[in-house]
Amino acid sequence: MRKKIVAGNWKMNMELAEGLKFAEAIESYFKSKPSKAEVILCTPFIHLSGVSEILKNSKVCLGAQNCASENSGAYTGEVSAPMIKSTGAQYVIIGHSERRTYYHEDDKILNKKTVLAIASGLKVIFCVGEVLNERESGKHFEVVKKQLEDGLFTISEVDVKKVVIAYEPVWAIGTGLTATPDQAQEMHKYIRGLVNEKYGKEIAADLTILYGGSCKPSNAAEIFSKPDVDGGLIGGASLKKEDFSAIVEAI
Ligand code: PEP
Repeated sequence: MRKKIVAGNWKMNMELAEGLKFAEAIESYFKSKPSKAEVILCTPFIHLSGVSEILKNSKVCLGAQNCASENSGAYTGEVSAPMIKSTGAQYVIIGHSERRTYYHEDDKILNKKTVLAIASGLKVIFCVGEVLNERESGKHFEVVKKQLEDGLFTISEVDVKKVVIAYEPVWAIGTGLTATPDQAQEMHKYIRGLVNEKYGKEIAADLTILYGGSCKPSNAAEIFSKPDVDGGLIGGASLKKEDFSAIVEAI
């Protein structure tokens, strides 16, 4: 059975002390109420090493939200995959739409980041998704297919087992608009079909595919009930313990 995952993406929120306090609260919540899903906190870089200490004996996992497209050297302001790995983090998000849009990260760069992240021992949460006019003009399948083919599908069968795909329709991120459970299922099934064509049935059946985009306690259970939806990547609602834990429990 494939793994269920709920990952919180804190984005650029919380100063150091606030983030550590929040991570402690999450750690203690899931210690007393173990969850069926793997829970991952994807924090800003500044929190990684402190949160790693807090999660040392916990089942809750840790991830970063981005990594550099080089491993080391004269790249002022960048943080590489091996550096992230050295904090104790296990995951990194690659290809979030905010990185694609605001920092112009294209499929080629995202592919490079993915390869380096996996080589450094991290697991990758690889995000794909269409913008509103692409959906309205019926191009959403084509867009997601290209993102996967150019950004992810160059890696080997062994490496793709270290990847989780997150389908995040850009029009649903932080907007309050959510894909309907049927829209999510339709795209997740399509993605699993593409993985099947490229890597075979077994890998496709084992691959965790998350939904992201205004997921909240009131809609999580219905979205997660769909057969190809294996959990969520949660932005805004991951910043409130009650909302995040309710979403995890919806699994
Ligand atoms: C995200 O940032 O990945 C996300 C899904 O955000 P939100 O839940 O706030 O829409």
